[in-house]
Amino acid sequence: MLEQAECDGRAVIYLDNAATTQCARPVLWALESYWQRQHANVYRGAYCLSRKAGEALEDTRQVCAEFLGAASRDEIVFTGGATASANLLADAFALTELKPGDLVLATEMEHHSNLLPWRDACRRTGAELTLVPVDGDGELDLESLDRLLERRPKLLAVTAVSNVLGTVNPLEEIISRAHRVGCAVAVDAAQAMRCELPGVEMLGCDFLFFSAHKLMGPTGVGVLYGRREWLDRLTPPRTGGGMVRSFQGAEPEYEDGPLKFEAGTLNLAGIAGLGAAMEYLHAVGRRRIAAREQALLRYTEKKLQEVPGLRILGAPRRRAGCVSFTLDPLQPLDVALLLDSQGIAVRSGNHCAIPLHARLGISGSIRVSPAFYNTAEEIDCLAAALKRTLDSAGKNGLLKGKARG
Ligand code: PMP
Repeated sequence: MLEQAECDGRAVIYLDNAATTQCARPVLWALESYWQRQHANVYRGAYCLSRKAGEALEDTRQVCAEFLGAASRDEIVFTGGATASANLLADAFALTELKPGDLVLATEMEHHSNLLPWRDACRRTGAELTLVPVDGDGELDLESLDRLLERRPKLLAVTAVSNVLGTVNPLEEIISRAHRVGCAVAVDAAQAMRCELPGVEMLGCDFLFFSAHKLMGPTGVGVLYGRREWLDRLTPPRTGGGMVRSFQGAEPEYEDGPLKFEAGTLNLAGIAGLGAAMEYLHAVGRRRIAAREQALLRYTEKKLQEVPGLRILGAPRRRAGCVSFTLDPLQPLDVALLLDSQGIAVRSGNHCAIPLHARLGISGSIRVSPAFYNTAEEIDCLAAALKRTLDSAGKNGLLKGKARG
């Protein structure tokens, strides 16, 4: 149910699914059907097409709620993606909850998207942002977390799965420790939606967000889940059409629940695509997908370990989604370019996680992130290509060169 990724007429071995996944065909059909037959604005028209578009939107909200294991669709806010969700949440939290002297925690392994919005929110309000450290294996240091929780922070921003090390954080444990001291928890689930993440009700998190394009959906759309009490309590930081119930005197009265946070026209086609992606993953079987991705990742680790000089970053107890490595003295970018010349797409650089790379004492790495549609043969090709890369670098005298960091 996938189109084969191609570049310049050549098939690509696509191993950069942590950046974005390939689109599932039912998602393409949903997008086409939306644009061809269902395109109208929602809530704004008394006519049939608009009503139907509104119903489709609410149906997708329900699909999302079920996919996430949320108590109600009224806890699902549509956004432009994980980054947009984190910014919306941090801005709302700053408006309502933060004051000078308050503490917000994020972790050293956060993607910049779940770090910079909190840093900005703290700067604006006079609150302090402190990072929970990561240990040498790439696990969160839970003893440090406990010490920081004694300072009664207002919120902890934590990723479910590291987009560099693949570390699966023990979210249930972390959330229960945070809640014991009244600290809210915002989970970045951008890398976790294809693995077996427990439902949000089970997790007990206050907020959770992700993008559609990492679960075979389109770009430019995502979700912010917020527990209903929180959505009621927070002030919307963005205002405009579609979120005002009445505007009699000087003060507008906002809609309840998610609508309050959805000012303006949403990415309706994208939302239709997101719904189709979730239904597709559900039909394939999320457990099956998670098991297949785990097996492929184990195989990838094994094959990478066979490459001379290759150093895998971190050794977390549970790894999902991706594995990153260095291949000294070659630069990550050089490795990625040499792999690209052999038709293999992997990610190189800091993966928008500069504090984590700094903690690891490096400036960049190469990341491989297979999805369930990849194959063991593709991983064999990767390992063979890495060995060829090393051979040709050796012949060209590159291996005698000095590492550039
Ligand atoms: N958080 C994590 C852990 C991610 O991996 C990413 C995407 N690389 C993001 C947030 C941001 O996602 P988006 O660019 O879709 O907003």
